[in-house]
Amino acid sequence: MLTTLEVKAPRLVTALPGPNAKRILEQDAKFMSPSYTRDYPLVAKRGHGAIVEDVDGNAFLDFAAGIAVCSTGHCHPKVVSAIQKQAAELIHMSGTDFYYESMPQLAERLGRTMPGAEAKKVFFTNSGTEAIEGAIKLARYATKRDKMIAFYGCFHGRSMGALSLTASKSTQRKGFGALLSGIEHIPYPYAYRCAHGHTGETCGAEILEQLEGQIFKRLFDPEDVAGIIIEPIQGEGGYVPAPKFFLQELQRICRQHGIMFIVDEVQSGMGRTGKWWASEHSGIEPDILCSAKGIASGMPLGAIIARESVMRWKPGAHGTIFGGNPVCFAAALATMDLIEGEYKENAHRMGDYLFGRLADWTKNFKIVGDVRGRGLMIGIEIVRDQRTKEKAADLRNLIVDLAFHKGLLVLGAGENTIRLSPPLLIDQEQADFAARTLEDCFREAGKKI
Ligand code: PLP
Repeated sequence: MLTTLEVKAPRLVTALPGPNAKRILEQDAKFMSPSYTRDYPLVAKRGHGAIVEDVDGNAFLDFAAGIAVCSTGHCHPKVVSAIQKQAAELIHMSGTDFYYESMPQLAERLGRTMPGAEAKKVFFTNSGTEAIEGAIKLARYATKRDKMIAFYGCFHGRSMGALSLTASKSTQRKGFGALLSGIEHIPYPYAYRCAHGHTGETCGAEILEQLEGQIFKRLFDPEDVAGIIIEPIQGEGGYVPAPKFFLQELQRICRQHGIMFIVDEVQSGMGRTGKWWASEHSGIEPDILCSAKGIASGMPLGAIIARESVMRWKPGAHGTIFGGNPVCFAAALATMDLIEGEYKENAHRMGDYLFGRLADWTKNFKIVGDVRGRGLMIGIEIVRDQRTKEKAADLRNLIVDLAFHKGLLVLGAGENTIRLSPPLLIDQEQADFAARTLEDCFREAGKKI
């Protein structure tokens, strides 16, 4: 049996899935809800750094990181030790009714990462969807308005409020009946497929015109709008960055009408793009910022960070039993130390390295339509024809599967995009392995056209 501590690159020792994995897949099929969306049969057993070992001793290079969650890699010794120490001391009292030292400590540190001169306040949750759910309530509470604007392609979660904002895949909504009313969706500035032929810097001007000229004139008076919510880089929608001017203009519109500007940094935040928050690259100062995923290296934690003057709800207005327990806080504080000390910079450096390495992919591979993103949040859009940009979901799925069989874990995003969201600690050797493996997969998949 391999010990992952010794390997930095994948090693496959059985056919996939191996015998132990097969047994677990059978159990899973019998007992688990069929709503989960597994792309390939990885049964994870242990992990270290960017390597995950399965139940048969196969070691994989992980460029999925538990869907962009394991920011500091798997089982970073400092995170593990912080969790173990805290678990032996106190696991839960409920931060809703009692106090913990680590609660304001983490809140202060998170608040300091969010741009803007005003002091910040924080509410902790267990997940991304709960952070969004709370942000909807906070925006309504703070403005005494109830309408919201969200974007096509964005994913904000699966609880009913967050799902009402989500406009990613209709399967996520189908069968669940009426959702929150008073929400309008408008197009997301998707430069590669910009209907008006704009570039990555200018795409979206017409969307803003639609918002101000149509939505605000014909549907919602802006004075009824509580919040506009956006992912600065669309995650589940296909790793699509919004142009800088677009986010700045949204902020202007929000400020003009007293609308809460809410950024969902659940996937794009915590150093993944080389800064704490992807929205920082655009120089904006949101009113409310939602985080989760990478915040505690895999422990369940989310956060709503808001300007102090916004987060003024009364005791009892919002609460949670589990949201933020001392073990998650310990993991988050250790995670922040690591991201601040080393990994944010590494995400920037390795992101630049990878983008340099992938720069020629659209020239070299007919099925690669677009390579985009920032830092270690990279999307590769797979098409059947570069000219027509016909989406090749089947080839994307094939590439994800081929990569798995070559020891590289990646996930899809959107209809036909491959996402690279490795732990923030990867090195050049691992980046090269991932790039080489994907190149092999593109060659194989390209033969299927
Ligand atoms: N917001 C974004 C941008 C996400 O990517 C996700 C999850 O993928 C969520 C919200 C929901 O997070 P969770 O699955 O933790 O509820």
